[in-house]
Amino acid sequence: MNRRKNGEIYWEEAHIAPVKNANGKITHYVAVKLDISERKQAHDRLAHLAHYDFLTNLPNRSLFFERVIQALALAKRNKGKLALMFIDLDKFKPINDVHCHAVGDLLLTEAARRMSACLRDSDTVGRIGGDEFVVLLPDVAGSEAALLVAEKIRMALNQIFVVDNKILSISSSIGIAIYPEHGHDDISLAKHADFAMYHAKANGRDNVQIFREES
Ligand code: GH3
Ligand code: MG
Repeated sequence: MNRRKNGEIYWEEAHIAPVKNANGKITHYVAVKLDISERKQAHDRLAHLAHYDFLTNLPNRSLFFERVIQALALAKRNKGKLALMFIDLDKFKPINDVHCHAVGDLLLTEAARRMSACLRDSDTVGRIGGDEFVVLLPDVAGSEAALLVAEKIRMALNQIFVVDNKILSISSSIGIAIYPEHGHDDISLAKHADFAMYHAKANGRDNVQIFREES
């Protein structure tokens, strides 16, 4: 990094080569310096697009599951517990159909904001599909604590949405899987949280289910 005359910091690529005299002794160096701020910004933008959902700016599937894998490693070492939630909005398609896709997009953005507001900084909420969100509680006391957070999210999404001067309501179905009870790796925990979420749908929607072997 370097600093411009006006004090602004910029990214610099430097190529430095030694210059030798007739005896082969280095007498000085020649440096060619390039301002690569724009290239660095383009790189950062691409890295952001690769890890964050374009609409809601939440972590996408790839970043979210990277965090799950990291959190699992920590939970294993600390003999701690972790919760994974799958959240799918109920009857979201009719919002798009009755209003329009742009209104659906605004609702998804506001839903993402509400979910984030229910969580601690160390938790992660991600968007992995159209109206499908995931939550990671990397350090949770157990099922009861995870249920409380899930209920808080469900209630937050139950409040009316005012988007584009329209009053809309939606509900959500939430499935939870806990490490270590319901799985020891990201794949089995995700499968079981998804399974519990479908159980919540089958149970009439607008409810939370913890994974059960027989469910
Ligand atoms: P269910 O209660 O069974 O979940 O019903 P649903 O209508 O919510 O259906 P489902 O979850 O299967 O479908 C989600 C819909 O989300 C399908 C698609 O029309 C819509 N969708 C997917 N991506 C986007 C998006 O980026 N923006 C908007 N506005 N809609 C999206
Ligand atoms: Mg849905």
